[in-house]
Amino acid sequence: MPSAKFDLERNLLVRADHDSDLVQFVTELAEKRGITAAAFTAIGALKRAKLGFYDQEKHEYREITVDSPHEIASCIGNISIKNGKPFVHAHAVLADKDGNTKAGHLFEGIVFAAEVHLRELKGGKLERKYNEATNLSLWDIK
Ligand code: ZN
Repeated sequence: MPSAKFDLERNLLVRADHDSDLVQFVTELAEKRGITAAAFTAIGALKRAKLGFYDQEKHEYREITVDSPHEIASCIGNISIKNGKPFVHAHAVLADKDGNTKAGHLFEGIVFAAEVHLRELKGGKLERKYNEATNLSLWDIK
């Protein structure tokens, strides 16, 4: 079971910009603050989003378009390094006006309002490397 030990460096509470893409916003936050390993959660609301479902046989994402306002019922993610740059991996559960949900890998989420709680980690490099069995870039940990 590959694992790595990291300690908590600091907690950051950040309000994402209105009309920003949540994934891009967290990526730029990591770039500006020099964050190379972190876990985060976010709550709030999105104007629209693009979610993904990874087809495990075809080894490719199926895109799920969410083109109306939704609550971010839950969003969790992490930051690691891919190709030398901070890379955000996030999943979200989005709820519509009736409480019905759509969920998956978060490719893009245009922010109406969102609060991000980011836990920066220290203790080494957390890098992604290509993994042949999944055709994904996974954490390169031993
Ligand atoms: Zn994912």
